[in-house]
Amino acid sequence: MNVLKNLEKLKYLSLKRLKEEISEVRAEVQREKPNIITYSKNFTLSLSNYCQNRCKYCFYNHTIPKGSEEENIALIREEKINELIQTATQYKCREALLMSGEFPDSYNEVRSELERRNFKDFTQFIRNLSFRLLDASILPHTNVGLLTYEQLKSLKECNASMGLMIESTNKFLLKKGGVHHNSPGKIPENRIKHIKNAGRLKIPFTTGLLLGIGENFEDRIHDLLLIKDIHSKYGHIQEVIIQNFTDKEGIEYHPENPLTIEETLKTAGFAKLILGNEISIQVPPNLIQNHEKEAIELGIDDFGGISPYTLDYINPKHAWPKIEYLEKICKRMGYQLVERLPIYEKYIIKKGFCPENIKKTIDNINLNERNK
Ligand code: SF4
Repeated sequence: MNVLKNLEKLKYLSLKRLKEEISEVRAEVQREKPNIITYSKNFTLSLSNYCQNRCKYCFYNHTIPKGSEEENIALIREEKINELIQTATQYKCREALLMSGEFPDSYNEVRSELERRNFKDFTQFIRNLSFRLLDASILPHTNVGLLTYEQLKSLKECNASMGLMIESTNKFLLKKGGVHHNSPGKIPENRIKHIKNAGRLKIPFTTGLLLGIGENFEDRIHDLLLIKDIHSKYGHIQEVIIQNFTDKEGIEYHPENPLTIEETLKTAGFAKLILGNEISIQVPPNLIQNHEKEAIELGIDDFGGISPYTLDYINPKHAWPKIEYLEKICKRMGYQLVERLPIYEKYIIKKGFCPENIKKTIDNINLNERNK
């Protein structure tokens, strides 16, 4: 389907017809590849809750009081890092998600903690941690909000892949009353620049849309087309996450008409039609619980990072499902659930995308697998 020409048609496409169109797209890969849905066994290192932004839907940043399990921290403690890496090794997690608020070192509290631990800045801290993870045969995937070209370049050397959600380019969200009114980091041009810079640097990349934050159907299609356009130029986007906002206590944003899971999954379906089989479409399974079958019918390829022991810090009340549970659903639908690394296979071999030291860690992981 020519999406641009058929925007109206797309808007009123019945669920049945959408699924039929998705089957046609999928049939193009099914001849060579069996039906596969992937996931990555990961754990999260929540590095700092300090953030320059105040997104109204955010539960993570340091100004929001937390429960006992998810405390606000200026910088993750050394003992906590050791404990998490040790447990990751026991669980055979292959991916570490390194996350934080945006530009945490714009705060004195974070800067003095970095200084106390002999780091000149937050990027150096991430680099140090990433190399430690690689030594432990764990592949880092960093998503800490906006970064400069130089910071991205420096982190590419020690990250298997990186990410930044585009969320939504709707500029009304930045205006008074909008969810991004006090979030300079959410100015669309800055995020687009970051994603393009990652492309210039050949960093295997994850981006995605955050739905239900005040955007509309046209915005979502526009942003999917924008991602397609960026990818056609740089060829670095390996997956696109379609994530639904979930309401929580303690945050400012409580929409009158919250987004339904059906609408989220329909958007995943549009993403599949627009992005085809070149880019994986992912929905976080903890946010669409009991709708996994529908998600597969609507073209998703991937359930993303699933942790056996750390929280989803953005949605701490939404526990990760068990792998066996997803396996059963996939099997019932004629699919196989397969574990993947945070760098997709095609990017391991694609020239310039996977530094030698990352390849070495991947070799170690493969060797450990063979010796199991
Ligand atoms: S940028 Fe992320 S951490 Fe910061 S306020 Fe927005 S959602 Fe929260």
